[in-house]
This record gives sequence, C-alpha cells and structure tokens, in this order.
Amino acid sequence: MKSFKLTKEQAEILVNKYPTPLAVISTDQVEKNYRFLLDNMPRVRVFYAMKANPSPIIIEKMIDMGSSFDVASDGEIRMLQSMGVRGENMIYANPIKTVQGLMAAAEAGVNRFTFDSEREVYKMAEYVPDAEVLLRVRIKNAKALVNLNEKFGAEPENAISLLNLAREQGLDPVGLAVHVGSQTLSTEPYYEAFSLCRGIIDEARQLGFSLNILDIGGGLPVPAPDTCVNLENMVREINAGLDKFFPDIEIWAEPGRYICGTVMNAITRVIGKQIRDGKICYYLDDGVYGIFSGVFFDHWEYELNSFKQGKMLPSTFFGPSCDSLDVLTKDYPCPDLQIDDIVVASDCGAYTVASATNFNGFAKARVIHWEKEKERLGTAAEQKSDCEAVV
Ligand SMILES: *Cc1c(COP(=O)(O)O)cnc(C)c1O
Repeated sequence: MKSFKLTKEQAEILVNKYPTPLAVISTDQVEKNYRFLLDNMPRVRVFYAMKANPSPIIIEKMIDMGSSFDVASDGEIRMLQSMGVRGENMIYANPIKTVQGLMAAAEAGVNRFTFDSEREVYKMAEYVPDAEVLLRVRIKNAKALVNLNEKFGAEPENAISLLNLAREQGLDPVGLAVHVGSQTLSTEPYYEAFSLCRGIIDEARQLGFSLNILDIGGGLPVPAPDTCVNLENMVREINAGLDKFFPDIEIWAEPGRYICGTVMNAITRVIGKQIRDGKICYYLDDGVYGIFSGVFFDHWEYELNSFKQGKMLPSTFFGPSCDSLDVLTKDYPCPDLQIDDIVVASDCGAYTVASATNFNGFAKARVIHWEKEKERLGTAAEQKSDCEAVV
C-alpha cells in the first residue's frame, strides 16, 4: 500500500513556516486506509482505537467518514463526546475500567464494554447496570510485535462461568472479543482465535446465551513499505475465516495502528554533531521522549530520510534531552549531515505523538494538517504534491 511521504520541497516549505519538530498528518491517507477496510472487509464494523493517535485531525476525519471508536478511559470518552460522537458509537474496550471511566460512560451513553474477570462484572453491574458486555478471551500469539494477551483475556475454560455471572448480575452478554496482538503479520493467530471463539459461542448457545458479536480487536499491521506486509492477502484470509466460522455473527474490529501508522511524517532538525568513539553522532530536536516514543513503547524502528546524496555512513541518532536513554537508532546508514539539516521520518503516526512527553522541558512537536497547509500554500506546494511514494 502507498503511504504518506512528504517530498524534500514540501518539508522545506513547512520548516520555513513553522519551527521544528513538526508532526504532519495527511487526512487523505486516513481516508485511504479507512476506505481500504470498508472495501476489503465489508462485514466489519470499524471502531478506531484512538489510543494509537488521538489527534483531533484524525478523529474528525474518522467521524466524518462514519467510523465508531474504541475507548479505554474517561478522558477518551469525554474527548469524543465533546466532538459530537454518540455513546452508541463507542465501545469501552478496556477490560479493566476505572470508576471515573464507568461514570463517564454512563453519562455519555456508552453501553458496550469488554471484560475478562469476575470483579469487573460487579463493577459494571454497579455503575452501568444495563450494559451489553463482550467477554475478552485470551489467545496465544507469540508472533505479535506487542503481545497483549499476557495482560488481558479470560482463560477459555472460564468463559462460560464468566458469562453466567454477568447474566446473573443483570448485564447482557452479547459477544466475545479478542486481540491477536499488535502488528500481527500472520493470520494464524486469527484462525486460532476464530476456532476458540466458535466453540465458546456454540457452548454458550446451548445455555441460552445469544452471543451475536465477535470483536476481532486491533492488531492489523501498519502497512508501511519496510514491514513487507501484503495486507490484501491478509484481509482476504481473515475474511475467509470469518465466513467459515461466523456466517451468522456480526463482526467488529478495533484497528489502531493500521489506521494512523502511515498518515504522519515527523520533521526534525539536526541540532548537534560529534564524532564519538569513531562514530558519527547526530542530535535531533526530537527524540524518544517526544515523537519517537515508539522506540520504547512500540518497539518501532523509524525510517529517517535526510533527502541528501552521498556515501552512507553508519550513524547514531540521539534525541535532544540530557538522558542517555534518548537514542533513536545506532549504526543507521545515512549520508553526511550538517547542523540545521532536516531529517524526516515517515510512517510514524502510531504510538508516537500519543505517548510523547514534555520531559526535560522540550515542547511536544506541533501537529499540523497537511491538506490544510497545502491549500494555504497554494501552488508552491501543489506543484510538488506528489506526496506518495510507490511501494
Ligand atoms: C490497543 C488496542 C487496540 C488497537 O491495537 P492496534 O494494534 O493498534 O490495532 C484495539 N483494541 C484494544 C482493546 C486495544 O487495547
């Protein structure tokens, strides 16, 4: 798939107008990513997992296109509520909820929740007594970049007793939920999840439950060039599994990184340069406490583009803070750079600005909307608006 990539000229126009670091978001790319799902997974109702990137630029676009949302806290519920999203278009998909979160949900009319433990049933029964609930089931997936099944998901053998408890407590069990793990590149864990869930749904049916929804969670990969994922094949295989196992069940999904990963470029500048232990070291004006927080929180390696020609030299890139942990990458092949040169990272929309901090007093990157800028800049940017690299 294509992803949003600023050209050298476009990046230069932006840094002449704004100070770096900059986070540039393309809503055309948001639209492409979302439409691909509508076209290629027509059975799936999409709940964007906003934790991956809660920028209002992205959220507004997703609202315009009719998406629903996966929320995990009172803050996310209130933000969406203030942007006009109705509670019926949200699922509170954090299996462990805070009291503040449950109260915000009740107030906003959010009535769908996931859970994976007994205590959560009692909490929901108290604060959202008529809730529709989906039991999150644990699956095994050693292949995901980020394995979420260590933290969440009921053991399958406890599924029926949890569903029974939920019903006894006045909740309405309507389905099952899974999360195969973030950036899962294989469809194997989906099939494992499908067969497991089908078994539980059938067993529950005999006990009078009608579990009519399967939420396949997030995990769809960022379709960036270097991840070598063939998304068309992947979704075709997932669809085939859904049709085989769940012809009679409504399917939901909570994509996060897939929607936002390829929609953002970060523009940074070289603010320092040294040779240390014989190696070239650059200091950028943003680092792992800012946009590049995904180095830690998301195990991600960013592609850094200086738009320069020349011999590739193994280079270290540091962030601007005084902390030694603030390293973006080591031995990264890069032409010789000078102070003030710009370095652009593409495909950095997921789990970057979302977890950026003001550590050490550095301001977070300014987030700007590419299509709006393009409009304002008129022909200067338009002439160079070939913002897609063919992969
Ligand atoms: C984080 C999360 C997601 C999104 O995961 P991605 O891997 O970014 O798609 C979806 N659902 C739940 C419950 C999550 O916690």
